[in-house]
Amino acid sequence: MTDDADARAPYVAGNWKMHKLRGEATAFALALAARLDELDEVDLAIAPPLTCLAEVADVLAPLGVGVLGQNAHAAAGGAFTGEVTMAMLVDAGATGVLLGHSERRQLHGETDGALAEKLPAALAAGLEPILCIGETEAERDHGATEARLAAQLEAGLANVAAAQAATIVVAYEPVWAIGTGKTATPEQAQAAHAHIRAVLAALVGDEVAALIRVLYGGSVKPSNAAELFAQPDIDGGLIGGAALAVEDFVAIAAAAAPR
Ligand code: PEP
Repeated sequence: MTDDADARAPYVAGNWKMHKLRGEATAFALALAARLDELDEVDLAIAPPLTCLAEVADVLAPLGVGVLGQNAHAAAGGAFTGEVTMAMLVDAGATGVLLGHSERRQLHGETDGALAEKLPAALAAGLEPILCIGETEAERDHGATEARLAAQLEAGLANVAAAQAATIVVAYEPVWAIGTGKTATPEQAQAAHAHIRAVLAALVGDEVAALIRVLYGGSVKPSNAAELFAQPDIDGGLIGGAALAVEDFVAIAAAAAPR
């Protein structure tokens, strides 16, 4: 799929998880806004906590930076205390949403079945979904990585028409590499990304699969970003800890620019 890499604009998204108060979020957004002229060849997005999503969107969305929810419910409304709808994210200024992050899967009981409902709900609301998938350390040790990734993709895309799938972004995030300081080697990550693209091709056809951006996530830092992003099937990154500081986020995003 190397030949199609040019068709996919590099993309770097920061996931702030449960960090930053509103003032800190606005300060980051303003500082990033001042650096955007260095990053004009890379698509960027930030996933702030809900409490500061609107503030971040006010600053960054008009400048073309995506603003992502970290999760949302598939239903259009109802008695679901603590949840928000896709439309509520749009109303707050979001342009996309992270779905199936491993912390949601592991700590909050998010299932493949729920994700099969969430992807079409996000698309129907006009949000760009980033579907997060990845194997645990035990799955990798048992040689089950490829099967796990395929199962997560099949479930996530179960109710998405092939024609709509090109607007989905996939984030490959090996669970053992998230927030641990352990990073997949560029070769391990490329092998997983090539497998993901092959599974996507089987699900939605070669042409659409060649357009779907597949990001790597898991302890990406300024020091290792370039070698990961140089792999032919790695189209950018989903960044956790290193997305909390503007300097690091900008350095990582710069490493994704086409060379
Ligand atoms: C993440 O949570 O999506 C992530 C990749 O985290 P970190 O970069 O901190 O490993």
